[in-house]
Amino acid sequence: MKVIIVGAGIGGLSAGIALRRIGWDVAIYDRVTEVKPVGAAISVWSNGVKCLNYLGLRDEVAAIGGRMDGMAYVDGLAGEVMTQFSFAPLVEEVGQRPYPVSRAELQMMLMRVFGPETLHLGRKVTAVEQQGDTVTATFEDGSTDTADMLIGADGAHSVVRTHVLGRRAERRYAGYVNWNGLVPVDAALAPDDQWTVFLGEGKRVSLMPIAGERFYFFFDTPGESGQTIAREDFKATLKAQFAGWAEPVQALIDRIDPMATNRVEIHDIDPFHTWVKGRIALLGDSAHNTTPDIGQGGCMALEDAVVLAIALQTNTLGIEDALMRYQGRRTERAADLVLRARKRCDVTHAKDPAATQEWYDGLRREDGTNIMRGIISNIAGNPLD
Ligand SMILES: Cc1cc2nc3c(=O)[nH]c(=O)nc-3n(C[C@H](O)[C@H](O)[C@H](O)COP(=O)(O)OP(=O)(O)OC[C@H]3O[C@@H](n4cnc5c(N)ncnc54)[C@H](O)[C@@H]3O)c2cc1C
Repeated sequence: MKVIIVGAGIGGLSAGIALRRIGWDVAIYDRVTEVKPVGAAISVWSNGVKCLNYLGLRDEVAAIGGRMDGMAYVDGLAGEVMTQFSFAPLVEEVGQRPYPVSRAELQMMLMRVFGPETLHLGRKVTAVEQQGDTVTATFEDGSTDTADMLIGADGAHSVVRTHVLGRRAERRYAGYVNWNGLVPVDAALAPDDQWTVFLGEGKRVSLMPIAGERFYFFFDTPGESGQTIAREDFKATLKAQFAGWAEPVQALIDRIDPMATNRVEIHDIDPFHTWVKGRIALLGDSAHNTTPDIGQGGCMALEDAVVLAIALQTNTLGIEDALMRYQGRRTERAADLVLRARKRCDVTHAKDPAATQEWYDGLRREDGTNIMRGIISNIAGNPLD
């Protein structure tokens, strides 16, 4: 049996690895000639790590994972710790550490494991269709490939999604911009074994340790969409946005490399429950585009890949039937997490300033129990629980 996968991101590659493990002949196509992930790093929470473990990548992901033993929320202006706690109870409960990882390293690891033979870059898919039991992908240059099944792992602007839904799905601007990159670890910024988050004014500055003595940093700045800011103005813009903030935040802005800093306007898509049309199915951001506020978009793509392979491996009534079972097991969980992220996003970014102030006040009374309960509830319900 042959599958065409459109997209060689986290979703497409993990699905490719998962399907090949169960005997499928897999061809992955991506429009870019060099896959460069948008964003510097990503937190792979325990549910995502379990999926990578399941795909046989336990040692590989551990090798690129940062050591994140606990977390602290810090008042961004005063510089005072609001709450600080160990992640040990969380790890104990869910059975796996989370790993913040460099996106480039995760991408390279998945590409290496999938291998270059049937990974075709520079091949943009413009249309997909099913005729009888055969699916066809048509490329920009007019060429085609055919298979028994096609997976659209082509991200937030998916063309496969338009085919499956029969309409375009509108993306919704979430009201803030995320600036992210990497800097060397330094105790003047934050402890190197902790996720540190500075909060204030509906803004957020985060430092997460990844392997190689580096911090993955991001700044969230609420505001209008559609602004263009030249890279040479990145630092001045951040300095203005974070004027009066504590010394570590100023030091972080001083250290960023604007040429290697990503500025992303954050969007999501209202959840939808049709992921499958015949032998064509969606996976990853094409199926559930979320704001990154609970760090679960990529983890969901990994879960999709595992569930898809299990559905195809364990059911024998045909591809369409197995894909419907995949859809049945995935859409509610993904929708729940997209909506949780949206809710978290609104509180973090002061959509209702009173609710945000209430959250800040609550953090000062927090010993970590409630925060970890929230994270554990995102992890729970994963297919490998
Ligand atoms: C700022 C930010 C921070 C995030 N942080 C986290 C986090 O901490 N934890 C987490 O789990 N998730 C996080 N996410 C979400 C995560 O990045 C995504 O969910 C994940 O990358 C989706 O992977 P994907 O493979 O589905 O899509 P993508 O990575 O978008 O890959 C899609 C691929 O399809 C290709 N493609 C598109 N159209 C075509 C076409 N027509 N023909 C051929 N190829 C095509 C593209 O070139 C691309 O390579 C974050 C997202 C953002 C924006």
